Amino acid sequence: MNRLLFSILGLIMTLSSCNTTEKKDEAKKPTVLVLLGAPGSGKGTQAKPLAEKYGLPHISTGDLFRAHLKNNTELGMKAKSYIQKGHLVPDELVFDILFERTDKADCKNGYILDGFPRTLGQAQKLKEKLFSKVHFIVFNFDIPDEVVIQRLAARLTCKACGAIFNKNFNPPKVETICDKCGGELYTRNDDKEEVILERLKVYYNETKPVEEFFKNEDMLINIDATLPQSELLKSIESHID
Ligand code: AMP
Repeated sequence: MNRLLFSILGLIMTLSSCNTTEKKDEAKKPTVLVLLGAPGSGKGTQAKPLAEKYGLPHISTGDLFRAHLKNNTELGMKAKSYIQKGHLVPDELVFDILFERTDKADCKNGYILDGFPRTLGQAQKLKEKLFSKVHFIVFNFDIPDEVVIQRLAARLTCKACGAIFNKNFNPPKVETICDKCGGELYTRNDDKEEVILERLKVYYNETKPVEEFFKNEDMLINIDATLPQSELLKSIESHID
């Protein structure tokens, strides 16, 4: 009887130590925050304070493409027509641009992904390449279309630092000048109304299934992206801290 009791106790101790080791291993892994949601749902706005607070680089595939376009690189030229029409850039080009960035030294402890993955193929690639190596926290920014359209049509972006303002909800002190760095504010070409509608269509056809993908992996955290910026930030942080 005693021997049976000891064996059971031993088994319980082994199982609980495995669990602790797993937790420790998970804690050692780099953390990647994934921000999913429609264009204009506030991913970029939230990524900036999160990057500062957690010391993780903010990687926006859209920003990476815009930098390539500005520098007229070969990759930028290949992506240009897709971006101008509000279509998605083919996965292979997106992988080139993204993994070139995540291979850099500042990403070794993790990073924040804003605007990636946007197709099932991209989500699958993340799974193959990184699920076993990285601790992922995936947020889905939930927001009605009408709010997205209102926000994007009034969005102003800084050419120099990428800061985002809104003519109605978060206006800069001077309409053409960035409060943060003094850079020039502009309306992105793909924030014009006809392109916004196309981007929303693309979002429903190609990106919505990515939500389901992470839900099936039991990784999706839904957050209410209509909340005021500071409350939204707190809600995100409560899942990280
Ligand atoms: P964003 O700034 O995230 O709205 O991205 C601007 C544009 O860049 C998108 O409309 C797409 O044309 C392209 N883009 C950015 N990220 C991706 C991605 N993960 N997959 C495909 N295209 C992308």
